[in-house]
Amino acid sequence: MTEAEVEQPEMPALFIGHGSPMNAILDNPFTQMLKKTAENMPKPKAILVISAHWLESENFLSTLGEAETIYDFGGFPKELYEISYPVQGSKVLAALLGLPTIKRGLDHGAWTVLKHMYPKADIPCMQMSIDYKLSLQEHFEFGKKLAYLKKEGILIIGSGALTHNFQYFDRVNIDAVPNKEAVLFDAYIQKLVEEKQYEELYKLTNSPVALESVHPTLEHYVPLLYITGIAYEGQGMKSIYEGVQYGAFSMRSWKVI
Ligand code: ZN
Repeated sequence: MTEAEVEQPEMPALFIGHGSPMNAILDNPFTQMLKKTAENMPKPKAILVISAHWLESENFLSTLGEAETIYDFGGFPKELYEISYPVQGSKVLAALLGLPTIKRGLDHGAWTVLKHMYPKADIPCMQMSIDYKLSLQEHFEFGKKLAYLKKEGILIIGSGALTHNFQYFDRVNIDAVPNKEAVLFDAYIQKLVEEKQYEELYKLTNSPVALESVHPTLEHYVPLLYITGIAYEGQGMKSIYEGVQYGAFSMRSWKVI
């Protein structure tokens, strides 16, 4: 390894199925995976999160200053609202992306994950909003254009869920038997990713279930299109977690290697 590589190692990229905000305060196999994943990768220069929970009519970056922790959920224990993740933005990242920053902090798609990965909030982090006007293919193409950031030492995290249908949400049982559509779709996408058929993720030619039955709205699926776009010319993606919580939400996560 050359000195330059030591100074600025290429980062992987991640897709994280973030599940319930409760994961922020839980110690379970999923949150342990997040910790271990961060421990086993080089320290990023900055982090870019593309979260299902920030949709706009164009692409913005979150604040350059200290990020406000956004509690974009309701009805959870008080303990969850007491967590803050006061991370700073990154001028380097903002300059690389050349997108406007706005006064906006981090939503739970970002901080419930980062809290386990980097509990000290000492690595600059920004979110990029998802432009809801883009097609699935356009999100994927956008992801391809972000791949170079890995070499710049930027860790990109797509935070969503492979399946996300509240119709099947079993509020009281985290270990509820997953609904059939979720199981079929989860396995189908995992196979496509394993076979590097990334373009099929926006085409879904042979999907065993209609996309709408596992994603009545598409925002939790979209972050995966960015991450598979990033993976397009790379070595592949490794599944780092699998499982379905509350009968409806796939927690499957991947690392772009
Ligand atoms: Zn979510």
